Amino acid sequence: MNDFEGELDRRLSEIERQGLSRRIREVASAQGRWIRVEGEDLLNFSSNDYLGLANHPQVKNAAAEAVAVHGAGSGSARLISGSLPPHQRLEQILAAFKGSQAALTFTSGYATALGTISALAGPGDVIILDRLSHACLIDAARLSRAKVRVFRHNDLNDLERILRWAASRGATAPAGRQHTLIVTESVFSMDGDQAPLAAIVDLKEQYGAWLMVDEAHATGLFGPSRRGLVEALQLSERIEVQMGTMGKALGASGGYVCGSHRLVDLLVNCARSFLFSTAPVPAAAAAATAALQIVQSEVGEELRASLWQRISDCATRVPGRGLDTSEPQSAIFPILIGDEPRAVTASARLRQRGIFVPAVRYPAVPRGKARLRVTLSATHTAEDVARLGEALAWATAS
Ligand SMILES: *Cc1c(COP(=O)(O)O)cnc(C)c1O
Repeated sequence: MNDFEGELDRRLSEIERQGLSRRIREVASAQGRWIRVEGEDLLNFSSNDYLGLANHPQVKNAAAEAVAVHGAGSGSARLISGSLPPHQRLEQILAAFKGSQAALTFTSGYATALGTISALAGPGDVIILDRLSHACLIDAARLSRAKVRVFRHNDLNDLERILRWAASRGATAPAGRQHTLIVTESVFSMDGDQAPLAAIVDLKEQYGAWLMVDEAHATGLFGPSRRGLVEALQLSERIEVQMGTMGKALGASGGYVCGSHRLVDLLVNCARSFLFSTAPVPAAAAAATAALQIVQSEVGEELRASLWQRISDCATRVPGRGLDTSEPQSAIFPILIGDEPRAVTASARLRQRGIFVPAVRYPAVPRGKARLRVTLSATHTAEDVARLGEALAWATAS
């Protein structure tokens, strides 16, 4: 082994030793209630395809048609010659769906966060993040070179403490760089709980800060028109930046920002992950458009209702919820195990029972907070959830 390979080997052994090793599994089936993982058919509680749209005929047809008409690839970045009708159409329908002036789409939610946060804040500005924010929000804050501060998860007092500090430094910050951007998820990806958004909005207004909310796990699932938690709480008008992904409940791929015309104009000019990346493939944009049409239809409401039915089934049947008697807040049920190797073992035991639930470990969650992350879908039946509950009781018994 040469130096390079030897060093990689050393690092990989260390990851293995800590119970943090990962490998790619091939899933031979399409996404759905059942998936075929390495030759085994497993009941799937691992996907963020909450409404079962990833393999929906209308969504697939839209993608296929877009390929037939517009080709497989986009050929260049949006600002060169890659801005095709499926992109324009998706942005129109997204803005209408969210009730915002405008929308801009990116190749992924990750790219959305990177481009948007680093376009809005820079050296001298302050970014305040919830401690449990998704990796893309943290990476984006670092990339921006703004001062980054973290508040304890959903802790308004801690947030206010930092806002007070940020306001007090105003005079010493470089001219034009005295802005504070708060970033949070509406539904947290690994804990499945909700941010106290109404109170955060009050605080950001009181301190003159800006707010960006990531609706990755809420779009399509909350609010009278299924726009997300921001809609459910009637806060749309008071939040500067709403982002999300089309890879989860929308069953497609890509990320979006919704906001004012000026916000979108600024991002078109300054979001580097938008400027310097090939436009999303036409199929992805067309699939997301079709998914948004379904979400906004009666079928969308039925899918959402089935999902919430399964969520309440799960709340009563899943043993790992332990003493947590609160109402479930999303389709994400974390079953805390703690120790990394034990979480991996519990996941393997579920697999022996024909059920797929991933063990989520550091760095997706803090060290020592490894867990099984159960996600539900509108395609699950009540029996599926009952089966999950029994298997979990067995798999997590020590
Ligand atoms: C998944 C996720 C993203 C990233 O979206 P992709 O489209 O998968 O890149 C962003 N934010 C949160 C909270 C997420 O869970």
